[in-house]
Amino acid sequence: MYAEEVAEMAGRIRDEDIALVRERTSIAEVISDTVTLKSAGGGNLKGLCPFHDEKSPSFNVSPARNVWYCFGCGAGGDAIKFLMDAEHLSFVESVERLAARAGIQLRYVEDDRSTPRPRPQQGQRQRLVAAHAAAVDFYRAQLSTAGARRAREFLAERGFDRAAAERYGCGFAPDAWDLLTKHLRQQGFTHDELVTAGLSRPSRSGSLIDRFRRRLLWPIRDLTGDVIGFGARKLFDDDDGPKYLNTPETPIYKKSHVLYGIDQAKREIAKQGKVVVVEGYTDVMACHLAGVPTAVATCGTAFGADHIGVLRRLLMDTDAVAGEIIFTFDGDAAGQKAALRAFEDDQRFVGRTFIAVSPDNMDPCELRLAKGDLAVRDLVARREPLVDFALRHMINRYDLDTVDGRVEAMRRAAPLVAKIKDREKRPEYVRKLAGDLGMEIEPVQRAVLAAANGQPAGGSTAPARPAPVTPSVDSPRSMVEREALKLALQEPVLAGPMFDAVEAAEYRHPVHAAVRAAIAAAGGAATATGGAVWIEQVRDACDDLAGQALVGELAVEPLRIDGEPDPRYVSVTMARLQWGSVTGRIKDLKSKIQRINPVSNKDEYFALFGELLSLEQHARALREQAAGGL
Ligand SMILES: [Zn+2]
Repeated sequence: MYAEEVAEMAGRIRDEDIALVRERTSIAEVISDTVTLKSAGGGNLKGLCPFHDEKSPSFNVSPARNVWYCFGCGAGGDAIKFLMDAEHLSFVESVERLAARAGIQLRYVEDDRSTPRPRPQQGQRQRLVAAHAAAVDFYRAQLSTAGARRAREFLAERGFDRAAAERYGCGFAPDAWDLLTKHLRQQGFTHDELVTAGLSRPSRSGSLIDRFRRRLLWPIRDLTGDVIGFGARKLFDDDDGPKYLNTPETPIYKKSHVLYGIDQAKREIAKQGKVVVVEGYTDVMACHLAGVPTAVATCGTAFGADHIGVLRRLLMDTDAVAGEIIFTFDGDAAGQKAALRAFEDDQRFVGRTFIAVSPDNMDPCELRLAKGDLAVRDLVARREPLVDFALRHMINRYDLDTVDGRVEAMRRAAPLVAKIKDREKRPEYVRKLAGDLGMEIEPVQRAVLAAANGQPAGGSTAPARPAPVTPSVDSPRSMVEREALKLALQEPVLAGPMFDAVEAAEYRHPVHAAVRAAIAAAGGAATATGGAVWIEQVRDACDDLAGQALVGELAVEPLRIDGEPDPRYVSVTMARLQWGSVTGRIKDLKSKIQRINPVSNKDEYFALFGELLSLEQHARALREQAAGGL
């Protein structure tokens, strides 16, 4: 799921081009697109902060220095950073947007270790997006014509009034062969552009005709709000096409990445740290209108790894990496199968994936119609962890009143528990499974262990381990510290130099700090050759009792990686460790800046501000390093 970012790095923009983009960009203009700015005196501007709720403006922009900063919430940066935060774009996407705006042709550094990624032709994207924008206007106007009565009825029957239809840009493809095509040709779009955009297609006779006919249309937008395709619902019985038709794959429409509603939902997804995945366009509308603003839907394809990639950026903007993905299913077999497949495919998200199944097998749109907005919010609130859901469905297939049924159910369910990436959670699920089956814990534990050992990749090297002497994971941060210490104790030859280079001050947990100090006192991990002697040396050097016990525990606890650790894993772990403390320092600095009066302490203010920008750059580099392989 990091493929997208790796590809992005492969197509890295040349540094001098990034500098040029910064230089030619008017930060005030960029920000004015989304924030109304007034003069704040001294050439500076101010407005209401887009990143926190406020009534009086504390969001400041300095056009002279090309920076912005909010005294209310501490957010700040340059124009690139603004687009990243406000539009949830990646660094590269932000630079591309600003470059297009300033008319700068970007050049990319191709990484020769990877295959070069074909980039869309410069300008082509803009043309295809413009054609779509014109098509949206055309279809929207058609929705109020006499021929679109059935489309309006369809929306009304599902509880969507005119305002809702307008908010989502709903339209109607008329009963005609080439009305849209002719309209767009008149506006100057070429034959090839319309075919490439997927809006038109050649007929058998060779003339160009509209792709969609006699259908209700939903414009599909990307993260930035540009329309890149359409979803089209069948309205008439004599329409022998499929119920839903979508734009085909085009240079701008990739169905494996597209999420309907993401443009409207992204801010709430980022804010709430959760996303609700529903099945259709009407479900997205129903959820948003019912007060579940985080809903999105895939378009004509199952939810997959690329969709997770898109959501990662929204969900995991923070250190805590704790986003929740909630799938809603209408309880039919297909939906359940999809949920179980997600469990098979994506181990990384298993612990944060939830299932919300409507008890009456209604989708959110039907639920809202039948029982109102509250019922939709309640459906999402009553979500269940995917693991519980999967286990329940696995077990329900067997007759638990018989010994044979219970044993068979245990045999089938054990591999699911063995697959849980987060090993800390396994004992909990062993207990739960034993309870659900009405069996003793011991045989279930053995079955799970056997399943884990029989698995080629999933934890075959994990030995049974004693109960931990200290609470092992109380936060993601603490988990990373623990992992770094495990690397130093278990793999000093591999991890030693990188481990020793990161200062003791980066470890916040006092017992972890004690072990880190003991490793240094024992001569540093880089000097060790490993084995029991090294563990003894560290234990002897540790003057903290809890630390001594922890050394023994960390020496045998399996690493949180399947297979052998490599330099990349060490690098990722150490980057994540440092990132935590850099973001802590950024927070401190922001609060300090907030307390300074920029008018009377101008020099100090800008000095601190410069420090802040460079720390943020450092944090960004660490985050890229941290994303490099997990
Ligand atoms: Zn703010």
